[in-house]
Amino acid sequence: MILAREPKSAIDQAAQICRVIEACRNAIAAQEAHLCGLDRAIGDGDHGTNMRRGLEALAAERQQLAAMPVPEAMIAAGTILVMSIGGAAGPLYGTLLLEIGKGLAAEPAQAKFPDVFQQAVAAVARRGKSHPGEKTLLDVLYPFSEAVISDTPLQQLAEKAQGFADMTIDMKAMRGRASFLGERSVGHMDPGAASCALLCQVVCHELAKAGAA
Ligand code: ADP
Ligand code: MG
Repeated sequence: MILAREPKSAIDQAAQICRVIEACRNAIAAQEAHLCGLDRAIGDGDHGTNMRRGLEALAAERQQLAAMPVPEAMIAAGTILVMSIGGAAGPLYGTLLLEIGKGLAAEPAQAKFPDVFQQAVAAVARRGKSHPGEKTLLDVLYPFSEAVISDTPLQQLAEKAQGFADMTIDMKAMRGRASFLGERSVGHMDPGAASCALLCQVVCHELAKAGAA
């Protein structure tokens, strides 16, 4: 499972962290217009731009992050995302990484990553005062964390993530700007769910390439 196996050396681990950050930055950059389009339909059209800014800020710091122990790197990365993504999504993505970092620091046995991840997702829900089924990024994070707990192989996890985002199309938005549209939000994919699925897929693919599964 993710992070379950120690990379061979600190150098390997640093290179892997850099590759994951770069891959996330590239994927978000490639989908910036698409994510803005999704947000234009049910929000204010800035989600792709917000995420692009956040991932660029993360990528600019990747060498420093990669040199840190993983828990500290997660906390630092979360802080960068809170400050750089902005909007509603910044504090939520930031909370996810901050809480993963805190959880890993408290529980250094990396085999516990699925539990740490699930608790971090619960912290995101508390931060957003939101629940699954309300057409937000939590509709990807929650079922994804359950699949992680169930030890789903990385390739299948990546495929499931997009399916979770697709399921937000039929949901009515109950949180964030999209909730102002009520029933008119139905029929559109939630932009936060789309960016979240994309990032989950990229991380899974990179870890699979690195042989972490
Ligand atoms: P803003 O809405 O401030 O313009 P973004 O466009 O960057 O911010 O992010 C919008 C996304 O944030 C939504 O698509 C949704 O997934 C997520 N979101 C917004 N509010 C909440 C909330 N209270 N809980 C969980 N996710 C939320
Ligand atoms: Mg927006």
